[in-house]
Amino acid sequence: MSYPTVGESEHVGCEVCGSVVRGQAIRGSCIVDRCERCGHIVRDLDRCPADHRDLAYGGEPTLDRIRLDLTYRELVRDGVPPRVFEVGYGAGSMLRRFLDAGAEVAGVDPDQLGVRVDEVVRARGDLRTGGIEDASRLPGDQDLVYGIHVLEHVVDPHVALRSSWELLRPGGRASFITPAGDSSGLDRYGAAWWMLEDPTHIRFFSAESLSRAAAAAGFVDIEVRRLLLDSLSVDAASLARAVRPGARPRGVLGSKPVLAAAVASVPFVVAQRLVAQRSRPTLQLIARRP
Ligand SMILES: [Zn+2]
Repeated sequence: MSYPTVGESEHVGCEVCGSVVRGQAIRGSCIVDRCERCGHIVRDLDRCPADHRDLAYGGEPTLDRIRLDLTYRELVRDGVPPRVFEVGYGAGSMLRRFLDAGAEVAGVDPDQLGVRVDEVVRARGDLRTGGIEDASRLPGDQDLVYGIHVLEHVVDPHVALRSSWELLRPGGRASFITPAGDSSGLDRYGAAWWMLEDPTHIRFFSAESLSRAAAAAGFVDIEVRRLLLDSLSVDAASLARAVRPGARPRGVLGSKPVLAAAVASVPFVVAQRLVAQRSRPTLQLIARRP
């Protein structure tokens, strides 16, 4: 795949592998900085503005519940871990599932969305406010540390991954879900790609850069998967943004017709993802502390 080159970036090098990063124009007059070696993308809002949304995604209840179900099932594939830590727990919905299943729960969240946290989780969980990179004296010896759509937001992904590693007991597992910068969505939709709507999405990992970043943090048994059923609304949302660009302070999924189109398109989206792995917009990192 080739892109028009817009000159070398002012960045010193790729934040993951240190290699040369080049600015690349994508459809819709937007430039992203992509690493020549590992495909990692850094997004500078001046060169690739979000254009639409003021805040990070607050969520759409039905879609969020489906995502929560699927992600939870994936996380407890090998049984419910006794001690669980969430990086970016938001409203605490996922921690609540673990709590109800008998796990001890903890987490850290910058409270960027200003959401109300589940009261049971607040009462029984060990919750901290802040970013994982600046939180200190977090509870260690965790069996599972996970983050759902957080690595694309954090100030320093290396610190976030290393801090997660430190929270785990030896043999403990980490799981991080993040948008795929090497999926076909960015090329197909360009600036209209829904993952760019959120101005706090400041980087997009490729499968390779995610795997490299995990290795650099000390993880072993690293596996990166492309998820079949995550972010099912991304195509409908991206199409709506492409067809009618413009400011949408509540986000494109704030529109009922777009949401209905997203729901209606699910069978087609899944069918496409089954035949074309690269159309899957989300990566999942699974790794272990040795
Ligand atoms: Zn790189």
